This record gives sequence, structure tokens and C-alpha cells, in this order.
Amino acid sequence: MKKTTRIITYTMLLLLASLLFQSTSYANTVQIETDDLLVRSGPGTEYELIGHVNQGEDYALVEQTDDWLAIDFNGETGWVSRQYATITDQISDEPETSSSQTDSNDQADLASQDFKIPVDRLHLRAQATTQSEILAVLTEGETVTIVEQDQDWIKVLAQDGEGFIPAWLLNFQEPVIEGQTNLKNKVIVIDPGHGGADVGAISITDRYEKDYALNTAKHLEYQLEMLGATVYLTRSDDYYYALTPRAVLANYHAADVFLSIHYNSEPQYPSANGLNTYYRKDADQGLADAVHQGLVEKTNANDRGVLSGDYRVLRVSKQPSLLLELGFLSNQAEEKLIQTPAYQDEISRGIILGLENYFKYH
Ligand SMILES: [Zn+2]
Repeated sequence: MKKTTRIITYTMLLLLASLLFQSTSYANTVQIETDDLLVRSGPGTEYELIGHVNQGEDYALVEQTDDWLAIDFNGETGWVSRQYATITDQISDEPETSSSQTDSNDQADLASQDFKIPVDRLHLRAQATTQSEILAVLTEGETVTIVEQDQDWIKVLAQDGEGFIPAWLLNFQEPVIEGQTNLKNKVIVIDPGHGGADVGAISITDRYEKDYALNTAKHLEYQLEMLGATVYLTRSDDYYYALTPRAVLANYHAADVFLSIHYNSEPQYPSANGLNTYYRKDADQGLADAVHQGLVEKTNANDRGVLSGDYRVLRVSKQPSLLLELGFLSNQAEEKLIQTPAYQDEISRGIILGLENYFKYH
């Protein structure tokens, strides 16, 4: 009741403000940078959904906070996550030219620089989303030219034309091989949780667990392969696969270890944070302890412990198997950390340290 009154008062104030200052408050335009971006009635994921907006659409800016932008959404005030929208300093029906000039000035630091692709088998996408068409598969060492970039994607000019690659590649770090490793020729099956229509947990900034899990899986895959392991991913793209075939793949390859990668969410407890490692068979407890210890040591994240969990992927897999919950997407600070390449690197190193310790005895 109290909240409703507050929202009504707030909306009236906004209306009044926009009437009084229409020319100034509508001077800026919000450009939407992703499809199906959720529009909410207030600046937070706890507010009611009032609609969707799509990539390339422009809306008048009404109000802003650090993380949210209020737009004029069909005469209503709607809030969108700032991560997926940018403010341009002109109204939407002005010519396009001044907008693209402003954009390219903002990003002048990297534009038209050459960039060497640091990983193999990289998909060049038609659009800035993992769901768009794959235009080409880029190989490690290939040089592309940066056209422009935003937080998540870089538009590049490659041999096969223009397309998009993920922005985390800019900060990609070569793995450091510390002395001897016993991972050579080990078969590791990595299962990035969820995918496709199954988005997994939705983060506090409306991002999806499925994308974080895939990103982590790819980092880990690369690092393990550098150490001589043979790695299979249950999915290498944004597709949905049922749980049973994911574990069957581990059995088929006689995996030495099967790891299902997940991120956690507890929206009712936004301060919840840290790592959980789950195993199902008693025989896998040693593996769970080793990997969990490695993760805690390398990431310094909150240790939520090793637990037994009756997950389907762990039930179907006959191989040594774990399900890893690598942090809370419902925790604002932790989600920010999870987005950094440095933290992803620590996660990979933690898992690798754990596996090396485990394979000393197995
Ligand atoms: Zn999950």
C-alpha cells in the first residue's frame, strides 16, 4: 500500500517535471542495445514488468540512476537496465549522422586498431548477441580491425566481412603454465548449465546464468587444453540440451572428470555470495573437496562449502562428477566481479589447481 502511494506520487512528480522541463528533460535519447530488454515500473529488478524494448530503438530519457534509465515508454515511465542501453545527446528524429559521430568519438581509443584473435574457433556473429547467425569461424592469430566496441561486444572487420566478437577477448590472458601438470591427456567434459530458452537464473542486471556459465566454460576449456587435457563441452553455444544427454556425453567419452558449471541466485537475500561445490556419489567427495579448495584459494570468494546434491546430471553420469555454483548473480558486487576477465581467470586457475591435486591420487 505504502509502496503504491509512493509510486503514484513519484509518477506524478515525474509527470510534473516533464511538463515543466519538457525541452530539457527530453533532450537526451536512450538507445536500446539488445533485443527483448525488460522494461520495469521502477529502477530495480524487484519492480513489475511493463513491457519489452528491442535493439536499435530510441526512447526519450526521463530520469537516470547509476544502474537504470527511465524512458518515455508509450507515455508511461519505464525503467531499463543501463547495461543494455546508452544515452545519446540528441533527439531521435534528428539525422543519424551526428549520433554515429558522437559514438565513434567516445570509442576512438580502440577504433580502427588491429586485434589478433587470441583463441581458436571463435564465432564471428552477424549481430551483438550469441543468438545471431555465425558469419565465420575465426582462428587463433588471425588479425581483425576493430570498428567499434561497447561493453559486451566488439564490431570487427575480418576477412569475411564485418561482424561481432565478445568484448572479453580484449582482456584475454594467456594461461601461465606453472611447472609440471598432470592434466595432460586427461579427458574433461565441461557442461555450461542451461542454454537457449532455459536461461537459468536472471541476474540483478537482467543478465542470464546461461551466458555466464558458457563464458566460464570457454575460459576453462582453453586453459585446460593449454595444459594438454582433452576437453569436450556439452554445448559450445546458446542452445538448449536436455540434462540426460549432457551426462551421457561424459560417459561416452569416458571422462576423467565431468564438471557442470552454474551460477547461483537468491533474490530474497541480495547479500548472499560465494561458492558451493556439489557431488552426488560418495566416491566423488575427494574430487569435490579438491576442486572446492582450489576455487576458494584462487578466488578468495566466500566458502559456502562442499555439499551432496541429487542433481540429474550427477545422477546420470557414471564418471567422477561435480556441479559447481560459482557465485551469486543476485548479488550486485559479485555479479560485477564475475564479469571481469581477471575473476574468470581465477575461477579457471582454481578449478585447475583442484584437478591437479585430485589427479595426484587418481
Ligand atoms: Zn544453474
